[in-house]
Amino acid sequence: MVTKILGAKQCSQCKGTGFNSVDHFNGQFKAGGLCWLCRGKGRFYVGIVMGGFMSTLDD
Ligand SMILES: [Zn+2]
Repeated sequence: MVTKILGAKQCSQCKGTGFNSVDHFNGQFKAGGLCWLCRGKGRFYVGIVMGGFMSTLDD
């Protein structure tokens, strides 16, 4: 399996800041704490997993 990285995508929850702007899940994740979605990274790497399509060149 090969994963091809296509690029980085800004976190939709914290807008790339890495911190919660408001409380989430009834205060389980507090405003100002590390973003519950990206865990403070602020972005996600988007990629596709390649495999299964390119194994047909065998004799
Ligand atoms: Zn985030």
